[in-house]
Amino acid sequence: MQDFERDVSVTLTKSYDKNEVITSIRRHFKLLKLHELIKPEMKVLLKPNLLMKRKPEETTTTHPAVVGGIIACLKELGVTDITIADSPGGPYTKHALTGIYEASGMRAIAEEYNIKLNCDFGSFERVVDNGVMVKTFTLINPVKDADFIIDIAKLKTHAMTTISGGVKNLFGTVPGLMKPEFHWRFPEKDNFCNMLLDLCSTINPDVTFVDAIVSMEGNGPSGGTSKNTDMMLASRSPYNIDIALCKIIGIKVDDAPTVNNAIKRGLSVSDFSMLNMIGDTIQCFDDYKIPQVKSLGFYDAMPKFLMKPMKPIINRFLTSKPIIQEKKCIGCAKCSESCPADTISIIDKKAIIDYSKCIKCFCCHEMCPVKAIEIKRFKMFDF
Ligand code: SF4
Ligand code: SF4
Repeated sequence: MQDFERDVSVTLTKSYDKNEVITSIRRHFKLLKLHELIKPEMKVLLKPNLLMKRKPEETTTTHPAVVGGIIACLKELGVTDITIADSPGGPYTKHALTGIYEASGMRAIAEEYNIKLNCDFGSFERVVDNGVMVKTFTLINPVKDADFIIDIAKLKTHAMTTISGGVKNLFGTVPGLMKPEFHWRFPEKDNFCNMLLDLCSTINPDVTFVDAIVSMEGNGPSGGTSKNTDMMLASRSPYNIDIALCKIIGIKVDDAPTVNNAIKRGLSVSDFSMLNMIGDTIQCFDDYKIPQVKSLGFYDAMPKFLMKPMKPIINRFLTSKPIIQEKKCIGCAKCSESCPADTISIIDKKAIIDYSKCIKCFCCHEMCPVKAIEIKRFKMFDF
């Protein structure tokens, strides 16, 4: 790891006011010396988190003011060839993306700054150097053409990975419904997270920003609630920035499997104290709500010698599971489209899960537009 990869810049940013955000991003560019890397003739790809058709104030997607602020700073460096691209959950089609671009505010930002919104829904194959889980990824075309990639994540909790930050955001470079296939191939959390790390090292973003002005706590990445955290962060390393995010939301690195596997693989530093924090002082929250699924605590509390023999039993009976709230369900089938185990049927306009095939990936929870899927937490005394 190079020294500059330890740098994580922080700016206190209290609102999405256009001028405040641009001023804040200019500071990040300066703190990380991005002007030394970015050349006017480069093709720059911006990869925000556009998970689903949600408005910016719903805290599910990267705020357009942050994307706009980065574009403004790129233009100050003379860059003109800038593309916004993401493959959200669900189908990767012009129809699906048009609605998401509109709702998320990306269409308005692209028009304001006269830059491109990706309309190429093709893909290509890239071989992974030293992949632990995956040897080849199929990726969205804009990745192939880019000279400089900016990962623009949103600080959110995540039912499976605990934290959705710099590494997890890059899952959106895999086209549409190929994403659930990875849940099917790698149902075990550490394997899935190692696949995400293979992907991140393949994309190798040049810089990662995190919109942590208003973040999502609770049942993220789409069913949680908003929390003012008043910061923007940036780093040349998506792995190290995620260590700083753990610090902000008050979890141990061992509780975030993308982070602890990155540490094991030597992709990041091993501890927050080894980061070179620059800019403003990072704000940490001891009341940040983590996903219910992570509150289980049972397996973690078990003596180590019992963990291995008990694991199959725990996985089968004692883990959290998705529950359809029938009254809220509108029968849109977005959960069933994204279910890698093909275990959700829509009957009489209501979703029904066949739990015998469910792999607990929580894609359905992530994709439900009306928060009709809850994660039922196992309680030891429910027997
Ligand atoms: S029902 Fe939900 S949690 Fe279960 S496999 Fe399907 S998408 Fe994953
Ligand atoms: S559970 Fe949610 S995603 Fe599934 S059909 Fe009902 S409303 Fe749609």
